[in-house]
Formats: sequence, C-alpha cells, structure tokens
Amino acid sequence: MSTTTVPRDLELSARVLASPQDFRVLTGDRPTGALHVGHYFGTLHNRVLLQDLGVEMFVLVADYQVITDRDVTGRIGSVVEGIVLDYLAAGLDPERATIFAHSAVPALNQLVLPFLSLVSTSELSRNPTVKEEIASSGRSMVSGLMFTYPVHQAADLLFCKSNLVPVGDDQLPHIELTRTIARRFNDRYRPLFPLPEAMLSTAPRLLGTDGAKMGKSSGNSIELRATADETARVIRGAKTDAERRITFDPVNRPEVSNLVLLAALAGERDPHDVADEVGDGGAAVLKRTVTEAVNECLRPMRERRLELAAEPGLVHRVLSRGNETADAIAESTLAEVREAMGTRY
Ligand code: ATP
Ligand code: MG
Repeated sequence: MSTTTVPRDLELSARVLASPQDFRVLTGDRPTGALHVGHYFGTLHNRVLLQDLGVEMFVLVADYQVITDRDVTGRIGSVVEGIVLDYLAAGLDPERATIFAHSAVPALNQLVLPFLSLVSTSELSRNPTVKEEIASSGRSMVSGLMFTYPVHQAADLLFCKSNLVPVGDDQLPHIELTRTIARRFNDRYRPLFPLPEAMLSTAPRLLGTDGAKMGKSSGNSIELRATADETARVIRGAKTDAERRITFDPVNRPEVSNLVLLAALAGERDPHDVADEVGDGGAAVLKRTVTEAVNECLRPMRERRLELAAEPGLVHRVLSRGNETADAIAESTLAEVREAMGTRY
C-alpha cells in the first residue's frame, strides 16, 4: 500500500481507524468517460482502503449529473458499465460496497425538492466549482440542473446519512453546501442528518497532460483501463517546461511536479527522491520514469479488469443489487423527511 496516497488529514484518519463502524461513506463519479489516475489517487484508492477497514461504503454512478452539461442518448449505458468495471478492478467489492445509479433511486431524487428550499440562489451562483465547470463546458446555455447539481449532491450524501466523503478538492464547495443544507434542515424541522466531512488524499487535484485538472471530459487523462502502450503515448505528450533539471516544486513548476508526483504515487515513493533520481535527465527521462511506474502500478488492475469484463451480466447484477439496497434506504429517509416536515398524511 502506498504511503503517499493515504488520507492526508491525520486527525480524521485517526478517528476513522479508531472506530470505522461509526462512519458511512458516499462517493461517486459522473459516467462521462473512463476513470483515470486522478480518480484513483484522488479518491478511489481511499474508497478501497476505507472499505477494507470496515467502513460502510456507498458508491454512486451519478447518471443524472451527466445531463447537466451534455446531451446523451444511448451511449451512457456502456460508459456506466465501464466505470463499474473500473471500480471492481480497483478493489471495490460489491459484497461490501453498495454500487448504484442515481436514476434508479427515485426517493433520493425527491429529496432535492425540500433541499432546494433551504438554499438561496446567490449561494448557488457563487459556487466556484460550478463556475469552473460552466466555463470549461464551453456552452453558452447553462442548464438549471447544472446550476442546482450541488443540491442534488447534498441529496446523494444525505439520503444514506453518510458522514465521510473521500473526494478531490473540487468537491469541497459541494460538501460545504451539503453541511449547510443538513444544518438548516435539522434546525428547521428536527435533527435528522449528519454533517458529512470531506476526506482528501495527498493528490487532491492531479493535473492532466495539458496542465489543467485531469478530467474525464477534458481529453487530458491517463485512463486506468488503457494499455501500457497507450499510457506511454499519453505521457509522452504531457506538457513540461524548458528547464532541464527536474525538481519537485508544485507552486513554480506545476506540470513537471505533477509528473513527479504521479511517479511517486504510482511507485510508492517520496516525490523529492523521484526528482533527485531523474535530476539532469530532463523531461524525457522523467516521462519514462512516470510511464514505468504507472504501468507497473496499474498492471494488476488492468489484468483483473479484463477478467471481470468477460463475466456475462456481472455489472447488471452488481447494479441491481446496489440499486435495491439504495432504494430501500432512500424510501426510509424520505419517509422520515416527510414526517419531519408534516407532509406524511
Ligand atoms: P468530468 O470531467 O466529467 O467532470 P471528472 O474527471 O472531473 O469528470 P468526476 O466524476 O467529476 O470526474 O469526479 C469524481 C470524483 O473524482 C470526485 O470525487 C472528484 O473530486 C475526483 N476527481 C476527479 N478528477 C480528479 C483529479 N484530477 N484529481 C483528484 N481527484 C479527482
Ligand atoms: Mg468533474
């Protein structure tokens, strides 16, 4: 296990280690493309660590969030299937983790209505992650769903009363809003919801090959499921800088340092040691080092994924079971919410 990807908040980690049974995790991903190394080192690896510690785990395939900023017809099913295979290959275990899709859990989605009443339009419009995503979507029209999706995420986290969220740093504003919604609901009606805490890894925002945040939708990612040759090609095209000597200096040399970090994470090493070793070898040697470390780290996952993909009906079985579990919990939470609001007749 890498020492560099464990959760970086030691106080929170100590609490989780002391009593994993007191925590319930919900995290998820939009099925907008293949999972990448940013997911793995930013959140997925921590999900697996937490699951293996005995923390209860819910993993959401956020299909309703795809249509915040794009049209999808037909293709979404195969993207969902690919993501679930990525989860399983990375070590999420459907016997212990509830893996489910938004669109299959109506009661979860119904929570969005009361929650929307607890936030103001100015709170929604100043969310920095939403602003960033609107800018990067390149669309002139901003959908109402895009504008309100952080409230939808509050419903995701609160329907199962999760209190721990292993995520990248782009999710921090959404978790803050969720805490606000939970607090307001608890104050206005009755105490029903926990205030979830974010758990960041030591790679809370891995950069892509162009120097921007690595993203499924950005064409700058190193996919978990890629072949070793594809991985080498993508890393060869990564942006670096003109300085020959390789150093680890994330503030002044973000692109080079991101590659150093990636080699360190994948090889379970200290980034300063990686940089010292490459030294005057320049970008070419650095990229070779990164490629070897990433391919070696992902090799077992990739082999496992090929085996899982050959099992007929596997993803369907995993999702049916997860949807059923999530649906029962969402129905029960919705009943409590309606009771608290006096709308259960
Ligand atoms: P999209 O481009 O479609 O938004 P994405 O790559 O940003 O896709 P999401 O589905 O939005 O992926 O995010 C899923 C989870 O992965 C979130 O917890 C997010 O914080 C985390 N994550 C995404 N990208 C990175 C990254 N580059 N570094 C660290 N964590 C990341
Ligand atoms: Mg995203």
